[in-house]
Amino acid sequence: MALNLLKETKMSDYFRHTKIIATLGPATESKEMLSKLIRGGVDILRLNMAHASHKWVEDAMWFVREASSEVGRHVAVMMDVKGPEIRTGFVDLPIQLNVGDLVEFHTEKTEPTGDIPAVSVNYSGLPGEVSVGDTVLVDSGLIHLKVIERDKERIRFEVLTAGELGSRRHINLPGIQVDLPALTEKDENDLAAGVKAGIDFVALSFVREAKDVKTLRRFLDGLGSSAKIIAKIEDQAGVRNMVAIIEEADGIMVARGDLGIEIDYHKLPLVQTELIHACQAEGKPVIVATHMLESMISSPMPTRAEVSDVSHAVREQADAVMLSGETTTGAYPLESVEVFKNIIESIEPSVSGALNDRIKLKEPKSMMLRSAATLAQELGGAGIVVFTRSGFLAYVLGALRPRGVPIYAFTDDESIFRQLLLPWGVEPFFMEFSEDPEETILHALQVLKEKEWAEPGEWQVVITNALAHDKIVDTLQLRQID
Ligand code: PEP
Repeated sequence: MALNLLKETKMSDYFRHTKIIATLGPATESKEMLSKLIRGGVDILRLNMAHASHKWVEDAMWFVREASSEVGRHVAVMMDVKGPEIRTGFVDLPIQLNVGDLVEFHTEKTEPTGDIPAVSVNYSGLPGEVSVGDTVLVDSGLIHLKVIERDKERIRFEVLTAGELGSRRHINLPGIQVDLPALTEKDENDLAAGVKAGIDFVALSFVREAKDVKTLRRFLDGLGSSAKIIAKIEDQAGVRNMVAIIEEADGIMVARGDLGIEIDYHKLPLVQTELIHACQAEGKPVIVATHMLESMISSPMPTRAEVSDVSHAVREQADAVMLSGETTTGAYPLESVEVFKNIIESIEPSVSGALNDRIKLKEPKSMMLRSAATLAQELGGAGIVVFTRSGFLAYVLGALRPRGVPIYAFTDDESIFRQLLLPWGVEPFFMEFSEDPEETILHALQVLKEKEWAEPGEWQVVITNALAHDKIVDTLQLRQID
């Protein structure tokens, strides 16, 4: 596939309603590759802490910021912390498990029985959580084990699906709610390193209930960080408690890798839609992740099924789609981004232009945003200009899903500026605000023209404060670019 990276990129070429997230790894961590990813249209880079050291985080952040200023295009960084993951321990050599074999898991403080192959697990409560007859899944669901015996410290399994058990393999317990803290000591150390390096988002794995998000928020507050929290929904408890979790978090990720193991795989598309709708009702961003272009890890072209899957997420109006293995170790990371971009550009114009009617707007100012969105759509070729210190108005505008209308969000807060790269259809600008609202508006319109986002004669619907005698009032104005 011919890559289109050499052509002159106009700023407005970057505009898409659906945002692109790429995970960093050996295939993309060099400054050169980062520049290419950013130029290629990536909005957010994910650092997956399952495989990263703190030195790597520091270096990656440095390269990201350097590459971003070199390209002249901003990008946000999301640290993905692993949360309460259950893993097998270290084995000297992989254990070959055949159907009908017996294998033992024991807690880290216990010796193996010694009569059958055995491996430790990092969760001492595991033997107490399972019952005889339960199925436990290992290594991303590849190996299926049936519990045949257990005591307080050991579990014996019969192998149902064969496989090779290497070190530190991920364990899934479908339907079992584990009693592990939301944040591990490793997560806390990772977060301290991430906050120091300047991360914009934290994605928390295995969020089971709203209080997991509160725990993370308290921890971030303690570090003085205002990073936004993305709750990864990846098990049955997360799905059951989605509404409360979405209320507490700043957004969610449909983490389909684990979710597809923890629930019936054939119900995954239904749960994906339910999660997207629940986020749209709350006006919070939602990311669809994992296996979107999996075959592109080793192939320059996606499968037809993958093209349909990505299109489906775009049609459902997810805020962002995410690449994992495709950009960490894949042979075609830039091509994967290009494929995302091409699919988004082809599919978005066919998406319904109807505004999101699930969202409940409570404040009069939020209700005014719906009128702004309708007006901009009716004008055609118009954008919405909004000034926001907290980012809230831009998040609500994005949640309204005004298809065909770019939302130009001006903020004077650098962290909010990068965090506005996530919501659907929002293009953020960092700009100091003047005391005089009129001066701020004129400056913003000038920036849009200079950066070739808007052309003379184009209409912009402007949401701003205005001074009426000595009172500040909320206004919706119609302005034309000079
Ligand atoms: C997932 O399980 O889909 C996911 C995004 O998490 P991770 O990449 O950490 O496995």
